[in-house]
Amino acid sequence: EDIQSRSRLTDLLRPDLRGQSAYGAPQLPVAVALNTNESSYSVPDDVVEAITARVAQVAPDLNRYPDREFVALRTALAGYLQIATGVELSPEQLWAGNGSNEVLSHIVQAFGGPGRVALGFTPAYSMHPIISRGAGTGWVDGLRNATGADYDVDAELAVQQVREHRPDIVFLCSPNNPTGTAIGLDIVEAVYDALPDGIVVVDEAYAEFARPGTRSALTLLPGRERLVVTRTMSKAFAFAGVRLGYLAADPELTQLLRLVRLPYHLSSVTQAVAEAALEHAGTMLSMVEDIKATRDELAAVTGQLGLKPVPSDANFVLVGGFADAAAAWQVLLDRGVLVRDVGIPNHLRITAGTPQETQTVLRVLRESIEDGS
Ligand code: PMP
Repeated sequence: EDIQSRSRLTDLLRPDLRGQSAYGAPQLPVAVALNTNESSYSVPDDVVEAITARVAQVAPDLNRYPDREFVALRTALAGYLQIATGVELSPEQLWAGNGSNEVLSHIVQAFGGPGRVALGFTPAYSMHPIISRGAGTGWVDGLRNATGADYDVDAELAVQQVREHRPDIVFLCSPNNPTGTAIGLDIVEAVYDALPDGIVVVDEAYAEFARPGTRSALTLLPGRERLVVTRTMSKAFAFAGVRLGYLAADPELTQLLRLVRLPYHLSSVTQAVAEAALEHAGTMLSMVEDIKATRDELAAVTGQLGLKPVPSDANFVLVGGFADAAAAWQVLLDRGVLVRDVGIPNHLRITAGTPQETQTVLRVLRESIEDGS
C-alpha cells in the first residue's frame, strides 16, 4: 500500500524531478563525525552568553515579524568582510539567507528557471545542480580540465565551455568542495569576460581556510555587476546550526533577489544570534588556524600512508588512493569514524576536526591499511 501511494505520488510529481535523488549526507550517531565539513569546536562560553542574552532581548517581541530587511545584520556582515578581506562593501551589497544554500537558491530563482541553463565545473558542490534543477533550470556538467589527472580548472577550457553553452549562471567554487583547492582570480575574470549575458557565482564557503596568497573574489566586485560571491557562517565561523549564509554583489542585484525571497525569511532569533556571533568574530574564528594545521597534518600523514591527498585550501582533505572507497568508508564507520564518500572512485573526503579526532582517523586508516582491509 505504501509503495502504491508512493508511486501514485511520483506520477503527480513534476516530471523533471522524477528519478532525482535528494541531498543526503548521512547523520549517524558516531564518536567522530568528519563528514559534513562542520567545525568540531563548540561555540565558546563567552559567545554562548552573548547569544543567550541577545535571544532574551528579542524574545518578548517574537509576536512581531522580524526586520524583513535585516539591516543590522547586513551592516555587520559588511563590516566582517571588510576586516577579513579589506574590501569595502555597503550594506546594500549584502544579502543573507538560511545557509548559503538559500542564497544560492535565491540566485537561481531570480536568474535561472525553466528554459535557462546553469553550468558548473564538476566535481564541485553537489547542491549547485540540485538547487538549479529544483528551480527548473537546466544543468551542464562542465569539465575542470581536459586530462582529468588533477582537479585544477583550466582557464582556457572553462572559457571554451562557457562560450559553447552560453549559460545564464556559472558556478565557480573556491576553495572547491569536494576537492579542496582554490582557483585563481584570473579564472574568475576570464569566465566573467566570456559570459556577457550571465551571472557568475563564486561560492566561497571555505574562504577563511585558504592558504596564504589566495585572494577573495570579493576584490573583483567593483565594476562587475554580474558577479556574486557567496559565503557562510557554517564553516570557519563554527555556526552551522544557526543556518546563516550570505552573499555580496552589486546593490541592484541584491535588490532583484527580493523578488524571490519569502517574506521575513530570516527569523528575529536567527538575526539576533548571527549579530551576536559577528560581534565576537575574533573568538568565533579563533580555531581557524588550528583547523588549517590539522588539515595540513591530515594531508601529510595520509600521503605518508601511501594514500593520495589532494592539496586543500578548505577544512577538509579529499584523499585518493583507496582500492575501494565504499569499503574503506564502512571500515572507518565500523570503528566510529564517519567520513564522506563523495562518489569519486577511490576517494574519501575527510573533514579536519580536532587534533584528537584527526589522530583517531589517521590511526584507523593506518590500522586498516596494515590489515589490508
Ligand atoms: N557551498 C559549499 C561549497 C558547501 O560545501 C556548503 C556546505 N557543505 C554550502 C555552500 C552550504 O552551506 P550552508 O548552507 O550551511 O551555508
